[in-house]
Amino acid sequence: MEFDINKIRQDFPILQQKIYGKPLVYLDNAATTQKPKVVIDTVSKYYYEENANIHRGVHYLSNKATESFEIARKNIQKYINAENSHEIIFTKGTTDSINLVASSFGKKFISKDDEILISVMEHHSNIVPWQILCEEKKAKLRVIPINEKGEIIFDVFEKLLNEKTKLVAITHVSNALGTINPVKEIISKAHKKNIPVLIDGAQSIPHLKVDVKELDCDFYCFSGHKVYAPMGVGVLYGKEKFLEEMPPYQSGGEMIKNVTFEKTTFNELPFKFEAGTPNVGGVLGLSAAFDYLNKIGRENIEVYENELLNYATEELQKINGLRFIGTAKHKTSVISFLIGDIHPYDAGIIIDKMGVAIRTGHHCAQPVLDWFKIPGTIRASFAFYNTKDEIDRLIEAILQVIKMFG
Ligand code: PLP
Repeated sequence: MEFDINKIRQDFPILQQKIYGKPLVYLDNAATTQKPKVVIDTVSKYYYEENANIHRGVHYLSNKATESFEIARKNIQKYINAENSHEIIFTKGTTDSINLVASSFGKKFISKDDEILISVMEHHSNIVPWQILCEEKKAKLRVIPINEKGEIIFDVFEKLLNEKTKLVAITHVSNALGTINPVKEIISKAHKKNIPVLIDGAQSIPHLKVDVKELDCDFYCFSGHKVYAPMGVGVLYGKEKFLEEMPPYQSGGEMIKNVTFEKTTFNELPFKFEAGTPNVGGVLGLSAAFDYLNKIGRENIEVYENELLNYATEELQKINGLRFIGTAKHKTSVISFLIGDIHPYDAGIIIDKMGVAIRTGHHCAQPVLDWFKIPGTIRASFAFYNTKDEIDRLIEAILQVIKMFG
């Protein structure tokens, strides 16, 4: 399909509005993405026409909702190229998926003095669950360092892998820096020592073609809302061999086979990990979002987003006094920067008043900002519905900040 940006923008109703009398420029896509009409319509159709609880009913609507839910699971399996649909576990999002693995994999496979390896550039979601697990189990959290560009130092990573390492948990794309990590190489090195790898895919699934079989990752986690789908739904992909061995995470309805007061037996995959009523509308919305992305073409999206990133980088570099945080060779869709000594929050307020939505602060990645010895940045993050004109509007807003603060 031809990539027609004007037509694409029409698919996103929220982008049509004005903020403070100016057309909205939405550059906070790493926090959450906007939803195309087809996703909104899918969720709304579910509640208008199909709403019923799934898996347990015998009536028409329950069967219909169950069928749509399981078709969606297969569609999502296909999108990330997982081997089996029962390797797709529905969760609330990336945070929930990582907590599931930390709790369940942790219970089964982590013991005293074991090591879990993460990197400096992780989101808090991929730090805190491991930290808590390590405290509980008296295990050790080890951290892969980065260089001044915001790239992991591969040699040190290799040296950190040892017989005590029980898991590597690393982000595919950094939300604070935009760095694309060489996860395929990381996985391959870890597997040579039989160490499984969890990939935090929250920021890669919206921008890169993700093929879990090709990556050979053991776990891959993402959130629907960062990939044009509703909030409150996400996925944990896990290899069958691990999921089969891992104990249930939460317990209650859905995840059981048989319950007596003496003993409960657990359901098979994927239901063993899906206790309680799931977000059916959200799952259908996620499946619709993937259909929509396929229609636009994932290669088209990648090419266009790279063009945007290059344009924004070149234009922003022309402004005197900007300091860029995260200048890795391989990057996607995120530019983090500081304007002289101006506090990011003050700059953010002025940029907002110009109708441009960006994010300021630590982006839930405090350790990496500590590493750069700064409290926060201004972050512009792009999606395929953004335009070069919108980047020009961001630049205008930055120039206004500089003018106001002298
Ligand atoms: N990991 C990364 C890299 C992220 O960027 C985010 C959200 O910003 C998360 C994890 C957490 O995602 P969620 O809040 O949707 O669970």
